[in-house]
Amino acid sequence: MKIVNEFKCAFSANSANEGLARAALSAFVIPADPTAQELADLRTVISEAVTNAIVHGYRGTSGEVSIMLRLLPERVVYIRVTDKGCGIPDVARAMEPLWTSAPEEDRAGLGFAIMQTFTDSLHVRSVPGKGTVLTMRRRLGVQDANEAE
Ligand code: ATP
Ligand code: MG
Repeated sequence: MKIVNEFKCAFSANSANEGLARAALSAFVIPADPTAQELADLRTVISEAVTNAIVHGYRGTSGEVSIMLRLLPERVVYIRVTDKGCGIPDVARAMEPLWTSAPEEDRAGLGFAIMQTFTDSLHVRSVPGKGTVLTMRRRLGVQDANEAE
């Protein structure tokens, strides 16, 4: 698959870095001229994914979260978020809306549901004790020929 553009970075699992992930996503995607809604959706998506890696993957321990952003042909935005944290023992259950392993922390269990709503595809690969890789794709809408110039 041809890659039109790619960005990778890694940062410590610290919630202060959630904004950094959103900013990187914005800077990467804006040249592809997304609508305001598409940009807002993608910022939400990366925020949910990175928050999960920090809050659930590492659970207060230290570690590294890496993100890879790609622009693929046909204006497809590809997002990969990787952690080497605790992993998810039952991915199907974790993806059920309203299911959370942290109700005492006032988590709603809606992160995966939001990510699914705002993307065209979402895949989770997780190995307990080794970590989680989340990949998502979202195709940006077709541009008007005049707007694209
Ligand atoms: P909310 O996102 O609404 O604050 P939440 O994070 O619990 O709540 P989801 O984002 O849908 O809800 O995640 C569901 C569950 O999946 C989490 O409670 C957690 O148990 C598990 N999970 C998600 N991402 C990871 C991860 N990277 N590592 C380990 N567990 C994860
Ligand atoms: Mg979440």
